Amino acid sequence: MNTTTLASTTRLNPVSRTLPVLLTMEDDAEDVGRLAPDDRLTCHVHGRWIHQCVASPTHVNPVTRHRWCRPCGTALTVSVDELSGDVTMYCPRCGHGESAASARLITACRASLAAARARKVFEAA
Ligand SMILES: [Zn+2]
Ligand SMILES: [Zn+2]
Repeated sequence: MNTTTLASTTRLNPVSRTLPVLLTMEDDAEDVGRLAPDDRLTCHVHGRWIHQCVASPTHVNPVTRHRWCRPCGTALTVSVDELSGDVTMYCPRCGHGESAASARLITACRASLAAARARKVFEAA
């Protein structure tokens, strides 16, 4: 499951950026078409790391199936483990609900969690 987002991660080098700086950089990159919204590590709606606000209902989208179980018509539950750095999503009704969009969202969340943790270490040093 450790695929993609490496491109945007290395290009924008999130570890050496503060959250507000990375937010602006990702906004700009997205505006000029260099960054897909799905690959963002920050959320322009909430102004936070994506893993910090992905549990918000705003991140559920039945059309694109981000955080959405189509068979059940239910939003996926998000679980963010800050210690292990793992992010999972599952449907509270059927226990599944995977989609390509949700998989991409999970990948972005794991990358943002990793970047935020690395950033903490960076700032403590
Ligand atoms: Zn958000
Ligand atoms: Zn379901």
